[in-house]
Amino acid sequence: MSLPLWFDPEEILIGGAWHKTQVCLPVECPSDGREMAQIARGGKPEIDAAVEAAQAALAGEWGQLSAAERGRLLLKMSGLVLAHAEDLAVIEALDVGKPLTQARADVAALARYLEFYGGAADKVMGETIPYLNGYTAYTLREPHGVTAHIVPWNYPMQIIGRSVAAALAMGNAAVVKPAEEASLTALAFGRIAQEAGMPAGALNIVPGLGEEAGAALSAHPGIQHISFTGSVAVGQHIQAAAAANAVPVTLELGGKSPQLVFTDADLDRALPFLVNAGIQNAGQTCSASSRILVQRSRYDEVLEKMAARYRGLTAGPALGDHDLGPLISGRQKEIVEGYLALASDLTIAAQGRIAEDVPAGGHYVAPTLIGGGHGAHRLAQEEIFGPAQIVIPFEDEEEAVAIANGTEYGLVASVWSENGGRTMRLARRLRAGQVFLNNYGAGGGVELPFGGIGKSGHGREKGFEALYGFSTLKTVAAWHG
Ligand code: NAD
Repeated sequence: MSLPLWFDPEEILIGGAWHKTQVCLPVECPSDGREMAQIARGGKPEIDAAVEAAQAALAGEWGQLSAAERGRLLLKMSGLVLAHAEDLAVIEALDVGKPLTQARADVAALARYLEFYGGAADKVMGETIPYLNGYTAYTLREPHGVTAHIVPWNYPMQIIGRSVAAALAMGNAAVVKPAEEASLTALAFGRIAQEAGMPAGALNIVPGLGEEAGAALSAHPGIQHISFTGSVAVGQHIQAAAAANAVPVTLELGGKSPQLVFTDADLDRALPFLVNAGIQNAGQTCSASSRILVQRSRYDEVLEKMAARYRGLTAGPALGDHDLGPLISGRQKEIVEGYLALASDLTIAAQGRIAEDVPAGGHYVAPTLIGGGHGAHRLAQEEIFGPAQIVIPFEDEEEAVAIANGTEYGLVASVWSENGGRTMRLARRLRAGQVFLNNYGAGGGVELPFGGIGKSGHGREKGFEALYGFSTLKTVAAWHG
């Protein structure tokens, strides 16, 4: 099936107009390895123009809109996303290689982010502060100014929804640099913003390479905030670039998120979560649960029940809507296969299968469940970013916490236990930005603040909290006698 594009993917959005660049980048279809389209290769000149356009928007029509008017615009965009839902889902599925069902869920999440932040735009309030006699003191929440959004390839629509919608709700003007591997729905988002009547320059979309457009954007002296989602190594570059301009940065990086299964867990409820959290989006999810920690008395049972599920899993082309699709690229496949080779001293408990007749150029890896693990193993320490989970036994709560907290990451964790006291206790002890008790992922959680500690990053997006991150606080003290 060809891409259902209703726009020219070689055009980029700057200052409310669509432009072409001198050179383009190929768009590979991860399901078959073929070139599907080309996108623009923006660089420093385009980033400079986009930042200038954003500054002009703040000084112009966009900066004059009330919070309610910005909210209405986002709500209109939410409706338009739903109107384009099936085309967006097919584009995202083909571009990222994700099963159509997942791509449809991503469209729904994008619409929901726009709805949530559209509704919230005029509900962010300051405070009045009791102060000295003769004064009235209060705080104002104001936009940072120009916000930079550097987006990865794994969930383009969801990540644009959570960061760009929140930034626009607060009145910032955004410059978005989508990932070179998957930029198409970011460009579609720009078209939808224009269809909704977004003032020129409020939203600018410049695809390109990380080391060109991404580096130019993160180092630009005209931006006032950076939202980065991606790898730890690049996140460190971005933070250094932000430091050079002394601007705040939100880093949403990787993870090694554990699920802790205690003897008294409701296994029937837990099992689908244990497995799906590992294989969703072929494991290319920052919050993928790649470590399953199981209390020893039920270890064999959990491993076998997970293995039975793995044996039923199939990887295949995105539009075939299998349990999982291909990985994003040949490079990512090599990395994941390199990790799987490290399992030679462990046990491969089960593998799913790759569908027959998958195109030879696709980047397929069979989902793999690894048993016999321990917390110090590289597979239990490093982010694999592929469809593999390692299952590790523990004796008691103390050991479970030590293993769970024993990586450089701290993004998400979950606890499966019918002992309410234990779950509440562990919710406090686990080092993670989000902890789920007897669930994992909570249905997407647009409303739930999200972000990491340690090498998983810092700052929070999603939920109402993002609106504080995408604004700055001004204190006003008035003397009136
Ligand atoms: P990546 O860091 O390679 O790329 C992310 C973005 O940064 C892309 O747009 C890329 O072009 C850009 N970039 C690359 N080099 C750059 C540079 N020198 N300067 C500026 N920008 C640059 O990451 P990836 O491979 O696209 O994504 C995978 C990683 O992202 C994983 O580690 C994953 O855990 C993480 N991730 C985290 C979250 C989260 O919310 N915490 C969500 C999705 C992905």
